[in-house]
Amino acid sequence: MTKANYHTHTSRCHHATGSDEDYVLSAIKGGYEILGFSDHTPWPYASGFVSRTRMLPSELEGYVLSLRTLKEQYEGRLDIKIGLECEYYPAMRSWLSELKEAFGLDYLIFGNHHYPSDEESTYFGMSTTDEHMLHLYEQSVLEGMETGYYTYLAHPDLFMGAYPQFDKHCEEVSRNICREAKKRGLPLEYNLGCAAYCEATGETLFPYPDFWQIVKEEGCETIIGIDAHQPYMLETSRYYDKALKFLEKLGIKRLETLPL
Ligand SMILES: [Zn+2]
Ligand SMILES: [Zn+2]
Repeated sequence: MTKANYHTHTSRCHHATGSDEDYVLSAIKGGYEILGFSDHTPWPYASGFVSRTRMLPSELEGYVLSLRTLKEQYEGRLDIKIGLECEYYPAMRSWLSELKEAFGLDYLIFGNHHYPSDEESTYFGMSTTDEHMLHLYEQSVLEGMETGYYTYLAHPDLFMGAYPQFDKHCEEVSRNICREAKKRGLPLEYNLGCAAYCEATGETLFPYPDFWQIVKEEGCETIIGIDAHQPYMLETSRYYDKALKFLEKLGIKRLETLPL
């Protein structure tokens, strides 16, 4: 088995801690062979808006340079990939595709946190409490997937972070997302970013079991993502092993690595 994780943040996003090298060292300790960095992308907001949860466009070059240096330094011990986690913001879509080329990024993952931008909408993980937000989430996932920019869809069930229960609307939205992902050959991420929190509090945010039942029924592929915001999240295999068991029991096809 090749142990890989493509969802790793850096302190540039203001809500992750540790140096870039700390993540590399923790990944080696945790038995990873491939580590993909996908910090929250910057965006060139026309209004000059400054987001508090992502790097500035001017920090992008330093991010890529730092990771390239680590990639060379740790060659043979860890295969480092360089990417970004991005929303789908229609007004800035061409900027995003140009950026991927300009910086020679290995991949982009689709983290549908806000739409049409974080200037105008609140975080789906905390504000999807009614049908209106649920359908907005669905709409932006479907539109974003259509661009073909992204390698996989991160935390597809993020909307269950606040929605009161998995009702018929959730089922419909989940099925539509799964069908489109399958049609486009886009894996869905089984995201472990909240795993420790959920275990400690007994809450169920995401991964949300009912969603994954639909993933199984629709025959989609999945990939595990740690969504590491602290280096130690790469050292423990507790949640990763639990995820392996859950997915295997359900019979969901899991990708070990991405074809990058
Ligand atoms: Zn984050
Ligand atoms: Zn995310």
